[in-house]
Order: sequence, then structure tokens, then C-alpha cells
Amino acid sequence: MGSPSTPGRLTVISGPSGVGKGTLVATLLERHPRLWLSVSATTRAPRPAEVDGSTYRFLDRERFEAQVQADGFLEWAEFAGNLYGTPRAPVEEHLALGQPVLLEIELEGARQVRRSFPAGFQVFIKPPSFEELERRIRGRGTDSEEAIQRRLARAHQELAAEAEFDAVLVNGALDAAVAELEAALGLAAG
Ligand code: ADP
Ligand code: 5GP
Repeated sequence: MGSPSTPGRLTVISGPSGVGKGTLVATLLERHPRLWLSVSATTRAPRPAEVDGSTYRFLDRERFEAQVQADGFLEWAEFAGNLYGTPRAPVEEHLALGQPVLLEIELEGARQVRRSFPAGFQVFIKPPSFEELERRIRGRGTDSEEAIQRRLARAHQELAAEAEFDAVLVNGALDAAVAELEAALGLAAG
């Protein structure tokens, strides 16, 4: 388990698949280069534009499970048929250096991090409506129909959990959502 007394701040960004977490986080990183985003490991197949080690470390199930056994993940969870996890060591190293750390993870992982880092800050991103969420997942054009259906089914559970979070933000107009996220994280607008 990580220590909640490490000097950097740990922020979790969560919310249903397709809500725009990746888009928001990418904008935040451009505007605030001091932030460090953890690169997760996953057993999901890479999407066409994804490069190993950049968006994710792509592992087969055997390697992923070996890393679980070795206590190599700060948290991990199964999502829509694939495993996802946050490698522990780089997060602890960046926190120890006092650098603000971002994790972009789903609900079960957010719950695990809440237990190990109770001093962390957790933000839930929600869509303006469920219909808009479905439009965004489909509009992204990266997932099979089966993957879309699994993600939408899971989204109902995730949306029911918003009250667990320290801050809740609607990703309607992107600029407004970025500004709200900056305010929630105490980041001066760039
Ligand atoms: P997530 O990381 O939560 O799965 P993405 O960042 O991949 O979501 O966004 C899903 C789709 O929605 C992408 O096509 C993205 O361009 C689009 N999107 C993100 N934010 C907004 C927004 N505020 N308004 C309209 N479309 C958005
Ligand atoms: P995607 O397959 O769309 O990239 O991600 C699916 C879901 O897994 C998203 O909600 C994303 O936030 C989440 N996710 C990505 N990395 C991790 C991780 O390391 N741990 C957990 N628990 N969820 C993750």
C-alpha cells in the first residue's frame, strides 16, 4: 500500500468510458506541464493510433497477472473484459519528488486508491446526458459494437457512484470543463 503522507498530491480522474476523460487530461497536461500522468498497463488490444508505452503498456494476461502477484500495481481492475492497472513504483517515485500525479482510472480502481490514499483528491466526470455519452463513444470510432455495449452497461453503474467523489464535473462544453477541472484542482488557469 502507498503512504498517504508522501509530499506530492495524488488526483484521480474517473467517469464512464467515452465521457471525455482522456481529452480533458490531455488538455490539462498541455496547459500544466508539471503534472505527471501515470501510464497504465492493460490487457486490452491497442487501438490503431496507440503506441506501447505511451497511452498504455500493453501486456498479455499472463504478464499482467505476474505483476499482480508481485504487488506491482497500486490498484487494478477488470473493465469490459480486460484488465487495467496502475504500476506502483513510478507513482510513488513522482509523489516522493513532490510532483502532482494524475491517475485516469475507472470506478473500482478509484475505490482502491481511496483506501490506500485517503488524502488523495478524486474527481468524477459525467456527461451532459446518457444519449450524449453514447454519441461520444460511437463518435470516437475506436470500439467494436460489443465493446460499446459493455461500456454503456458499465456506465450506468459508474454514474450511480458520483456521490463517492470529492468533486463532480459535467463535461459539456470542453473549454468550460477544463476551466472547472483547473479550479477543482487548484491550478492557476494557463
Ligand atoms: P474517455 O477517455 O473518457 O473514454 P475520450 O476522451 O476518448 O473519453 O472522449 C470520447 C469522445 O468524445 C472523443 O471522440 C472526444 O473527442 C469526444 N469529446 C470529449 N470531450 C468532449 C466534449 N466536451 N464535447 C464533445 N465531445 C467531446
Ligand atoms: P479504455 O479501454 O477506454 O482506454 O479504458 C477503459 C477504462 O479503463 C476507462 O474508464 C479508463 O479510465 C480505465 N483505466 C485506464 N487505466 C486504468 C488503470 O490503470 N486502472 C483502472 N482501474 N482503470 C483504468
